Amino acid sequence: MHITDAFDSGNIDVLDAAQPDRIRLEIRKDNGSDFYQWFHFRVTGAHGTPLTMAIENAGGAAYLEGWPGYRACASYDRETWFRVDTTYENGVLSLHHTPQADTIWFAYFAPYSMERHLDLIAWAQGHADVRLNVLGNTLDGQSMDLLSVGEPGDGKRTIWVTARQHPGETMAEWWMEGFLARLLDDQDPVARVLRDKAVFNIVPNMNPDGSKRGHLRTNAKGVNLNREWNKATPENSPEVFHVLNRMRETGIDLALDVHGDEALPYNFIAGGEGAPNFDAKGQTLLDGYKAALSVASPDFQTAHGYDVDAPGTADLSICTNYLANEFRCLAMTLEMPFKDNADLPDEEQGWSPERCRKLGAANLDAMLALVDQLR
Ligand code: ZN
Repeated sequence: MHITDAFDSGNIDVLDAAQPDRIRLEIRKDNGSDFYQWFHFRVTGAHGTPLTMAIENAGGAAYLEGWPGYRACASYDRETWFRVDTTYENGVLSLHHTPQADTIWFAYFAPYSMERHLDLIAWAQGHADVRLNVLGNTLDGQSMDLLSVGEPGDGKRTIWVTARQHPGETMAEWWMEGFLARLLDDQDPVARVLRDKAVFNIVPNMNPDGSKRGHLRTNAKGVNLNREWNKATPENSPEVFHVLNRMRETGIDLALDVHGDEALPYNFIAGGEGAPNFDAKGQTLLDGYKAALSVASPDFQTAHGYDVDAPGTADLSICTNYLANEFRCLAMTLEMPFKDNADLPDEEQGWSPERCRKLGAANLDAMLALVDQLR
């Protein structure tokens, strides 16, 4: 049997693979940090053989609430990802599966490679209204890609959408595929009207280095980008530094930052309520967006989510809080589950790339409902 993680976004250390029913594995930490939870590896040579793969350091992972009720993702063709039997006991996460092909891939969630990212931006730039710009380099020398849709004009609002500050939250870039596909669909009336009313600045992947390295949460040097917004530097967090510089040039009327949550089996939005400059208008816009998205997609809900910060107590190193405060705009963090949406569960796939895309597309309805109210 052969197990490897030597590819884009791979992450596993093999301790012992001599016995198929007691394979011993560990997840590697993000470089320069203690975070880990993302895994992605390939197993060859176990066709028809029952496998038990124990991730022995799961009990030290970043979000332990992420394991109960979680089922790992697997694929034979790297396109369709299904869930496999998974147990969590005594700090060990065990995957149980009998492969029906020579090679099978396993991952924490359906992976989104940097090659696929390059395909996405290459496709998007084919639309006449799209400009593709590189804002700067990451620490590993990759490009910080910005897709701009439309030109600023009289009364046009400015909408920013960012995804995958946390690279292991691959659902965020699957979401981007659905969002961009609809936004750039010239037959879609919602997209056409929105593009008349607003320009879009879109960063489909805020953390290319962490993505390629198979990190859960940080960039190449172990920095959590979503704790850098009030202190970004070219040395530690060029990804945030460059994006924020462009945001200051364009201004912001609406900012949406897309993430995944390890623990909660729901889609939800966290706002900037705790930002010192958050006011009644901000609350009205936030409530309006959540209500409109609930109508647009039954996969979105407002009953479950994070606790709301008390007024004035927000951590301004977090993107949404910083932007809500600095730009006095509607700023939101959209969270999707690693597990499934418990309100509409899918036994076969759980929360999946296809469902991320549909939620991404549905956000255009919410944006259209709010766009005229944006200050
Ligand atoms: Zn996140």
